[in-house]
Amino acid sequence: MGWAISVHGGAGDIPLSLPPEKRLPREAGLRRCLDVGIAALKAHNHPLDVVELVVRELENNPHFNAGKGSVLTTSGTVEMEACIMDGKTMKCGAVSGVSTVVNAISLARLVMDKTPHIYLAFDGAEAFAREQGLETVEMSHFITPENIERLKQAQEADRVQLDYTQPIQKEVPKDAALADGDSQIGTVGCVAVDNEGNLATATSTGGIVNKMVGRIGDTPIIGAGTYANHLCAVSATGRGEAIIRGTIARDVAAVMEFKGLSLKEAAAYVIDQVPRGNAGLVAVSSTGEVAMPFNTTGMFRACATEDGYSEIAIWDSPTK
Ligand code: ASP
Repeated sequence: MGWAISVHGGAGDIPLSLPPEKRLPREAGLRRCLDVGIAALKAHNHPLDVVELVVRELENNPHFNAGKGSVLTTSGTVEMEACIMDGKTMKCGAVSGVSTVVNAISLARLVMDKTPHIYLAFDGAEAFAREQGLETVEMSHFITPENIERLKQAQEADRVQLDYTQPIQKEVPKDAALADGDSQIGTVGCVAVDNEGNLATATSTGGIVNKMVGRIGDTPIIGAGTYANHLCAVSATGRGEAIIRGTIARDVAAVMEFKGLSLKEAAAYVIDQVPRGNAGLVAVSSTGEVAMPFNTTGMFRACATEDGYSEIAIWDSPTK
């Protein structure tokens, strides 16, 4: 038994032809965040602190769809969501509809640590962030030119991105600044286990491009996008509506517990139950096993374990 960590930067229809200028910054971001997490685990930080730290780094990186870099609602606004969970105590915290908080994952952590509740949203979440003295900024801070362009393209194509893993339905010029597939980036997540078997998970997102104002996805829903217990920690990504229907994150733990499967077997089984093209996840078990299956074209992901294994990848699911 040793420590293990895995991060993801979103699953979706990521074309094999993704140009280097779009691939490399995301790979570098994953590598950097993985290194931050490894150092924190080696320094014997609790996995809960490790996953919060790593997800904060990913939120601060504009190449991912969380924090700065969050995709836009149909009104051009940002509504971020985040969730964190501790496997041993099963304490958890979640937020939705946050538009000024620099690190939504830390707000989720405060909901977990400082309130009798699990989930705060919109005005109440914003007010709580201010009461707790969390860093806040104007919403415009989170909005990148790329995301203004993504929203424009989605709206020109009449594409409410509930179907965001599917090809654009209306024709978009071939030389459009952002090719099909580029919008399928970015929700972030991290799962970690220390060498005492303590598990934690954290997920953060801006949601999906051109989502309705007020739409809540899988990320903050305990058991759908995010879940941890004494057996495993899971963070999912992909089409939120499919992930909620499939209760993906909880199902991995349930299949391990009720069927006695290993983490890898359970994760692959659960992803296989979701309609193709919809979901991926990263997970670690209490014994230091890692699983990163997906049924989309790709998933930005990375992992490392105490025995020296490390991997960064986008395509080629281990389940395929
Ligand atoms: N699951 C996220 C959502 O539906 C999106 C993603 O993972 O990229 O909000």
